[in-house]
Amino acid sequence: MEEGEEEEEESESVRVKDILLKRKIGKGSFSAVWKAEHRGTGEEVAVKQVFLSKLSPRLKSSFHCELNFLSSVNHPNIVRLLDFFQYDGCAYLVMEFCAGGNLASYIRFHGRVQQQTARRFMQQLGSGMKILQSHGIIHRDLKPENILLSKPRDDAILKIADFGLSRTVRPGEYAETVCGTPLYMAPEVLQFQKYDSKADMWSIGVILFELLNGYPPFNGRNNVQLLKNIRSSTGLPFSQMILLGLDPDCLDVCSKLLCSNPA
Ligand code: ATP
Repeated sequence: MEEGEEEEEESESVRVKDILLKRKIGKGSFSAVWKAEHRGTGEEVAVKQVFLSKLSPRLKSSFHCELNFLSSVNHPNIVRLLDFFQYDGCAYLVMEFCAGGNLASYIRFHGRVQQQTARRFMQQLGSGMKILQSHGIIHRDLKPENILLSKPRDDAILKIADFGLSRTVRPGEYAETVCGTPLYMAPEVLQFQKYDSKADMWSIGVILFELLNGYPPFNGRNNVQLLKNIRSSTGLPFSQMILLGLDPDCLDVCSKLLCSNPA
């Protein structure tokens, strides 16, 4: 498999309106993501097909939040929505195609990255996060699978994607639903406490740690064990060898993001 290529299912091309869905490159419980082609322009695009009948009212509201947000944003570090339509019980989000695949495959392929790459990636994520915060959006599922690369190289542009669990929260308001992936979840989310956009900052901290270290900082067989491991850790669990090579500023940012008290 080439770098940046995702594992994909055998699938035949399907035509939906002006779009030719060529290969399935991702699959969730309520959606599938296709590599596709715009028949008019020949442009390569990615299409997220959402099966509307499978969405609960809560997921429907998250989906509308994703759609409203993506259609109002044009920023290099947020995946770009080019078009949207509904057809035969499905919603189709036509997006720019990110040829570098997702950050999880990138880390699997390259292992941990150089500090200067981590710095550049973090600057880009920070830039994207500013846009989310200015729209009052909590992503709630930030993890390497949901961060896309414009190309399969170190100088790729990172794009925050998959706002399927996101929601809008006004300043001073908190969310309570537990969602997202445990390894990247903030302690307040794991504990069913109310949380706000700071929960996304924890996830960004886990991603920074993983970029520098090759794997995430905290593990656990279940949420309780994971929380216990977070609580019992004294300092960031970098290996001594990696720690010695880290810039103090880099460590400082990482420990501030991975601070278990959101306040
Ligand atoms: P959900 O988590 O909301 O159920 P999903 O898992 O079906 O959604 P995404 O998380 O948005 O969908 O995408 C799944 C995978 O598809 C990504 O990890 C990535 O590998 C691939 N993908 C998604 N969007 C794009 C894109 N614009 N360009 C290239 N690949 C993409």
